[in-house]
Amino acid sequence: MTTLHNLGFPRIGAQRELKWALESYWKGQSPREQLLATAAELRQRHWARQQGLAWVPVGDFSLYDQVLDMSLTLGNLPERVRGDHGDALDNYFRVARGRSADSARHDHDAHHEGCGGVAAGEMTKWFNTNYHYIVPELTAGTQFTLDASRLLTQLHEARAQGVPAKPVIVGPVTYLALAKAHDGSNKLALLDRLLPVYAALLDALAGEGVEWVQIDEPILVTELDADWQHAFNTAYHQLKSSRVKILLASYFGALLDNKYLAANLPVAGLHVDALASREDARQLIGLLPPHKVLSLGVIDGRNVWKTDLTALLDWLEPIAAQLGDRLWLAPTCSLLHVPVDLASEDRLDPEIKSWLAFALQKLGELRVVGQALDEGRAAVADELVSNARALASRRQSSRVHDAQVQQALAQATPALEQRHSPYAVRAPLQAKKLGLPAFPTTTIGSFPQTAEIRHARKEHKAGRLSDADYQQAMRAEIAHGVREQEALGLDVLVHGEAERNDMVEYFGEQLAGYAFSGHGWVQSYGSRCVKPPILYGDVKRTHPITVDWIRYAQSLTKRPMKGMLTGPVTMLNWSFVRDDQPRSATCRQLALALRGEVLDLETAGVPIIQIDEAAFREGLPLRHAHWQEYLDWAIAAFRLMANGVRDETQIHSHMCYSEFNDIIASIAAMDADVITIENSRSGMELLGAFEHFAYPNGIGPGVYDIHSPNVPTQQSIAQRMREAARRIPANQLWVNPDCGLKTRQWCEVVPSLAHMVAAARELREAA
Ligand code: GLN
Ligand code: ZN
Repeated sequence: MTTLHNLGFPRIGAQRELKWALESYWKGQSPREQLLATAAELRQRHWARQQGLAWVPVGDFSLYDQVLDMSLTLGNLPERVRGDHGDALDNYFRVARGRSADSARHDHDAHHEGCGGVAAGEMTKWFNTNYHYIVPELTAGTQFTLDASRLLTQLHEARAQGVPAKPVIVGPVTYLALAKAHDGSNKLALLDRLLPVYAALLDALAGEGVEWVQIDEPILVTELDADWQHAFNTAYHQLKSSRVKILLASYFGALLDNKYLAANLPVAGLHVDALASREDARQLIGLLPPHKVLSLGVIDGRNVWKTDLTALLDWLEPIAAQLGDRLWLAPTCSLLHVPVDLASEDRLDPEIKSWLAFALQKLGELRVVGQALDEGRAAVADELVSNARALASRRQSSRVHDAQVQQALAQATPALEQRHSPYAVRAPLQAKKLGLPAFPTTTIGSFPQTAEIRHARKEHKAGRLSDADYQQAMRAEIAHGVREQEALGLDVLVHGEAERNDMVEYFGEQLAGYAFSGHGWVQSYGSRCVKPPILYGDVKRTHPITVDWIRYAQSLTKRPMKGMLTGPVTMLNWSFVRDDQPRSATCRQLALALRGEVLDLETAGVPIIQIDEAAFREGLPLRHAHWQEYLDWAIAAFRLMANGVRDETQIHSHMCYSEFNDIIASIAAMDADVITIENSRSGMELLGAFEHFAYPNGIGPGVYDIHSPNVPTQQSIAQRMREAARRIPANQLWVNPDCGLKTRQWCEVVPSLAHMVAAARELREAA
């Protein structure tokens, strides 16, 4: 018998029930009991939907984040949140969001700690997904103490429901690897203190009669140096005396050079991502000691496409024959990264919908595969036929394959990626055309998305506001933004992006090849969800997207207006991307489609075009060894989109996140005339990149953090500019905020930008 199991289920709920319950609790609109009741209800419902699996995950449910849950279990919440008010859950939310709840009814933070609460824990991306976890904080003095209550409560609930429970926890090595030692101490030195707590936790679970525990160690798919490899050996040798069986789970990639290490750790079973590399998974079979379970992740846990079940069975049948009862099957990773249920999609085109599988459909596929292996393919003949039909329809569909796109792509030679002249030639031509002062001031693109803007968009979408009236309303916003910018004395203006709901969705909606789900929500962090567009087919631009808006904005002012576009790499990294061709090929299609928009803007007389690549860094592979390959095609795509313009046209790019020190040479290779990058939020770490690297083109390291409602002073901005000018020649420097201003209010934006303009003048006069 093949053992079927699951690594984790989306916790937010098909209707985002957890989001609403959390936000209502935080606002003080509902009592804690109600939040906990919703959470219990969701767990119960999700377990019921996983019926038929031999092992169902327990403990994968979280009120905010599974890594923060682990910190709580290990008694490792930062000292600063252990306030004298409230209990463990209050402290938990204090780490997550800086306060336990917003109402005085629930919470005393607001009174006792000032209205700022406490500093929230840092949040960062969970491996290469778009899920964010709360970074555990460590110091040399960190002590761990076990609090198993959360896990045990969920275990008891599952038991009461008759669920074959497999508790899930984050493993000790991954926990340390993801943590930050704020005092710079060696994190691995804490392993000895950490392991007894893990051992006690496993003991507690054994005491409850638990048979299998899934310990997640995704860090195994990254490059590990000798110390970290050693940590794996230390950890699992110490935990091997526990009375539970450990299933060590790796995912988000192949084990590669960590195969031997993983295969020989003293655990009862190993889960691997068999989709990342079938060859790697196959080799593992030979390495694995004969008593160990091998769990193969065969259903894509982080993308939305149906599995080719027949092809999978062709591969699996011989493996099943070889491994017999030792073979387990599961999705590649937790289903946290896909939406819950395709059945609730009523707005998706039926043909496209027939190609997709969300979490519940993926578990359905798993059951079909298990049954085919145990009883023969004939037992699931109907399912296999309908699966094959859906796959054939996708393979042949004219919606997916557009000969025109293929042809255009074949003609898109690398020559198109080159500007006519090098930067040294372009720069004076642009300077002459634009006539900008030293330290030119600009913003990153968006202005506040006010309640009126959102309301107008909603009314328009619902058909209650005509196209003409909507356009009128947005034009009024643009005109307002232009007046404000002129009054502030900014040098390069923007139209403000009022008409855009989201920087990826807006462009996706107007390009062929993209579809949008109605409820395809995926947790991004805490109660925040995103609904990634589904990029299913060849990408084509059928009409100009932004030209009318930007031309209108330019018509209102004599100052240069920046056209504003989203780049191909960001379009790719924030979507569910087709899996029938390499991501690099899809990215190139996006680039070519958007290149047309760049050229149309230029023809419309727009002198500066900014191409946002907010998500450029996020696409970096988990292994450094694979970085260059990604950078090569990502940079080529950017250049393909951008570089068809004349020398006089100035190309800008913008990137979020400040950690560019390791890829600054690649950023330079994008050859944008100007880049703007987040800098202030992260304490100007970015500037370190310029100590050893002479960045050749224009650059605007952000001079204030836009995430905070605080208005920066002229002095603080001037100070940051002076620091930047110590590392970067003044004639290359631009002056701008860290990022777009859409989440701010005008009453914060106006004084902040006034101080920014004044600081720029101060530096000009001093020069
Ligand atoms: N132009 C976009 C804006 O200003 C850029 C957003 C981003 O970098 N995330 O909103
Ligand atoms: Zn940004």
